[in-house]
Amino acid sequence: MRLKPRAFEYVRAASLQDVFAVLDSHGDEAKVLAGGQSLVPALNLRLAAPEVVVDVNAVEDLHGIALAGDSLRIGAMSRYSEVAASELVARHAPLIARAIPFIAHPAIRNRGTFGGSLCNADPASELPACALALQAVFNLSSSAGARAVAAEDFFVGTYATALEPNEVLVSVDIPLAGDGAVTFFDEVVRRRGDYAMAGLAACAGWSGGILSNLRLAFFAVSDMPYLAKGVMAQAEGKAADSLDPETVCAALDTDFAPQEDLTTSGAAKLHLMKVLTRRALAAFAGAEG
Ligand SMILES: Cc1cc2nc3c(=O)[nH]c(=O)nc-3n(C[C@H](O)[C@H](O)[C@H](O)COP(=O)(O)OP(=O)(O)OC[C@H]3O[C@@H](n4cnc5c(N)ncnc54)[C@H](O)[C@@H]3O)c2cc1C
Repeated sequence: MRLKPRAFEYVRAASLQDVFAVLDSHGDEAKVLAGGQSLVPALNLRLAAPEVVVDVNAVEDLHGIALAGDSLRIGAMSRYSEVAASELVARHAPLIARAIPFIAHPAIRNRGTFGGSLCNADPASELPACALALQAVFNLSSSAGARAVAAEDFFVGTYATALEPNEVLVSVDIPLAGDGAVTFFDEVVRRRGDYAMAGLAACAGWSGGILSNLRLAFFAVSDMPYLAKGVMAQAEGKAADSLDPETVCAALDTDFAPQEDLTTSGAAKLHLMKVLTRRALAAFAGAEG
């Protein structure tokens, strides 16, 4: 097995304009380098063999975590460890704060980035499901201008996103968690730090004793994060004492057939999805009490 990348040109961009210049001239033959925790192994294994790698670590516009109107804006180059330590994230996007400790190990979380995870779009990754649950908006940019893409439109398949070859993800906007917001994150793994066999990122709000705006996004069960709309409809608008987990879980049987992977059958994943759904509903009911 080869463990050396094909020769490539390395460009360290100082600005977004530098990045656009490389992407415009090389198209599909250029790759953006963020934390390198997925790209570098892919280069070494020659799963990716671009002509040019453009390093965006020094691009100031991709850094920072700040409030932006009624959203929290997380720069694409924010390291996982930085996001996990952010008081703004803990207060306004607690689902993200809950999810990050489940990603890999500390050494990887010190290098890997928020935006890199989303652009990599691994169906077993934690953050794409969080973005889907939270109705995040992705701010993309190219030499042609900027556009905003909803999380539901950003993920289009395994390792596939709505990013055009000449675009970069600059930041992600997450609506601020309101009063009464509750969040749940859990996954089932063989060993701590591994990719999940199945996982769930969920959020909702309690208002006047009624559960509303429930969003359940599963990961590691399909070619992209899966928003369980049937399950959500079963639980929406219920009081805590009328939330029946079995009725809610039954919606999964009719709505969705998980895809098996190398280690876990579709039937086992469906079972785990129900286990996670019951845990989420119990956590939400407990939070209301
Ligand atoms: C041992 C190990 C275990 C891991 N376990 C997990 C895990 O449990 N869960 C998990 O989610 N991940 C896991 N990962 C992957 C890790 O989270 C990566 O950090 C992440 O997938 C990619 O982030 P990165 O910043 O390293 O991106 P990079 O590796 O630099 O880039 C990844 C891809 O995204 C593109 N890209 C990056 N940033 C941008 C941008 N701003 N605009 C456009 N394109 C961009 C790159 O071109 C590349 O195609 C693991 C990795 C390792 C090595």
